[in-house]
Amino acid sequence: NIVYLNGEFLPIEQASISVMDRGFLFADSVYEVIPVYAGRPFRLVQHIERLNRSLNAIRLSLSDLNIQWNDLFSELISQNNLQQGSLYLQVTRGSPSKRDHRLADETQPTVFIKADCLASNSSKTQNEPEALKVITVDDFRWQRCDIKSTGLLANCLARQMAEDQQASEAIFIAGEQVNEGSASNVFIVEQGVIKTPPLSNNILGGITRDLVLEMADNNGWPTEQSSIRLEQLYHADEVWLTSSSREIQPVTQVDDKTIGDGAIGPLWHKIVHEFADFKQRLFSG
Ligand code: PLP
Repeated sequence: NIVYLNGEFLPIEQASISVMDRGFLFADSVYEVIPVYAGRPFRLVQHIERLNRSLNAIRLSLSDLNIQWNDLFSELISQNNLQQGSLYLQVTRGSPSKRDHRLADETQPTVFIKADCLASNSSKTQNEPEALKVITVDDFRWQRCDIKSTGLLANCLARQMAEDQQASEAIFIAGEQVNEGSASNVFIVEQGVIKTPPLSNNILGGITRDLVLEMADNNGWPTEQSSIRLEQLYHADEVWLTSSSREIQPVTQVDDKTIGDGAIGPLWHKIVHEFADFKQRLFSG
């Protein structure tokens, strides 16, 4: 596995950063996970835009480095011979000489990119879809969930709570309000309307979320970005999770409640079909 670290391409075993790195000490760092299909990054522009939003939000500028993301990704994909998988990209505020909460700006950021080869789950998802069970947990995260920060301890703990109950994901609930999964966005279908919580500081604006809304709009399927209560989640006709790695997955159980009649719903079949077509069109040229 060849990775990119601070201007160099090198085997992962040789890639190392300082123990003073603020990513390590403070989780002073942001990241992206970019799917790769047919050897090409998927929704690259949107991922880079979101990275820039995260960087701005934590007041970290990469302008001195003049990074050409496109070139770096192409090079890494080619060096790893990556067809299907993802790119993991992390930027930290680097390693100052002293541990200090203040954001010193003279340190060089750490830029790390790794290519991960993954057996595609998309064709499997479509042909033999697996209906998921999820649990809900109190949203005990900070109030800037719109930043794609590597400070993911709450997300990891929540995901493990799901695992402990043989569930695939934990959905964060604040009061009565559905926010998002530990590493995914949530959609429900209610009387034919595809609904997802609106963008806010309580959720990460998922790239897959945007794409689902876009595909639904293109097909004239009604969508609504509005807050969703826990009761609505329990009584929805369909529940889906979306993320770059999950793509669009159907949920048929939330806590001890069965969703709809317990079968994967018709709109899910339509949207994944649309998603497959979308990728096909994009990469067949
Ligand atoms: N919400 C959280 C907390 C996430 O970590 C992720 C992705 O990992 C998402 C939502 C989905 O975002 P995307 O579709 O861009 O992968």
